[in-house]
Amino acid sequence: MSTPPNLAHGRSYLAIPGPSVMPDAVLQAMHRAAPNIYAGELVNMMPDLVADLKRVARTKHHVAMYTGNGHAAWEASLANIIQPGDKVLVPATGRFGIGWGETARLLGAEVETIDFGKQSPMDMARIEEVLRADKSHEIKAVLAVHVDTSTSIRNDIAALRKTLDSVGHPALLMADCIASLGCDRFEMDAWGVDIMVTGCQKGLMVPPGMSFVFFNDKAEAARAKMPRVSWYWDWTPRAHAEEFFQYHAGTAPTHHLYGLRTALDMIHAEGIENVWARHGVLARAVWAACDVWSTTGSFAMNVKDPAYRSNAVTSLRLQSPDATALRDWVEQQLGLTLGIGLGMATPGDPAWHGFFRLGHMGHVNGQMIMGMLGGIEAGMRALKIEHGTGALDAAAEVIGGG
Ligand SMILES: *Cc1c(COP(=O)(O)O)cnc(C)c1O
Repeated sequence: MSTPPNLAHGRSYLAIPGPSVMPDAVLQAMHRAAPNIYAGELVNMMPDLVADLKRVARTKHHVAMYTGNGHAAWEASLANIIQPGDKVLVPATGRFGIGWGETARLLGAEVETIDFGKQSPMDMARIEEVLRADKSHEIKAVLAVHVDTSTSIRNDIAALRKTLDSVGHPALLMADCIASLGCDRFEMDAWGVDIMVTGCQKGLMVPPGMSFVFFNDKAEAARAKMPRVSWYWDWTPRAHAEEFFQYHAGTAPTHHLYGLRTALDMIHAEGIENVWARHGVLARAVWAACDVWSTTGSFAMNVKDPAYRSNAVTSLRLQSPDATALRDWVEQQLGLTLGIGLGMATPGDPAWHGFFRLGHMGHVNGQMIMGMLGGIEAGMRALKIEHGTGALDAAAEVIGGG
């Protein structure tokens, strides 16, 4: 028997939950000679860039930019309001919640974690109990991940605000929207979020390298009471820059700014509500296929209740080592890269090879999602992984009706 031809030659597709698929227009906007950083186009484009970022976050308040990844935004947000000995509450629903809490601990905070495990969203009743017990209001901030990218659980941030208010607790509400911004609906001001962090390489469709901390006046008042904030992390000059270099505390990430400008133009031309709606339909197509695959064999979605699933990422499991075998096959044979499991098992544990994730954030459309699902179907056939049949029909029905 002759070996089948390799089908990976063609444009590759990185379907992992960040970095996401980037528009060619974003990459083309970055492909240019070094711009002047003292005057001219780059300097002049900052006010609109700031305004358009705030429109994506649905806030009228402030934004500070950092030349760093999501971890930089985690640290920046905390460095402005937490001093050693301050207490924070972390309602964790996966690896990223734990990680943000760890960042706070290393900055000297006392961290109380409520771990909701890997398959359940935040339980507001339990959070309410903890807040109610904190009679002297020692908890200064609640660190809440909107979509935890490891488990793909989406939490109800508006309900968390209501919980804080119902107890009359003054803690700052902080949200990590690194995975969710530009995919799942998020309303910073309407939901009463005081501080929000995000990165540029997921829903914002720009190569990794910039991140953002949005904050309101209540957060700014907490910053003003800090005895000191280090020069680099201080959000004040970045958000209220009078000179261009202050936005970035030094040399600007020049080419990223051009990429971001184009990405924001694309998002606002489509309309943020339409961007959310597109990701909503694409996510439902993914879930419909996964539901069918799950009808037999070991295939399973991590989040059972669709109300707590995200439009940005889907965490899945198979019998180990089938998930790793499937990822390897679709990458080598089809040029399609799926995400590894994260935080579900330790890398040395054989169970690790049973977890994987699909990223459907950023510049993705209907034909790409159908192609990704078709690739997974082909991989499961090639590897004789038991699965329900008719998944592509189910996905097509979501997208095309009928
Ligand atoms: C990606 C991600 C991070 C970390 O961002 P990096 O850019 O990798 O540092 C943090 N939180 C969430 C929810 C994420 O999805």
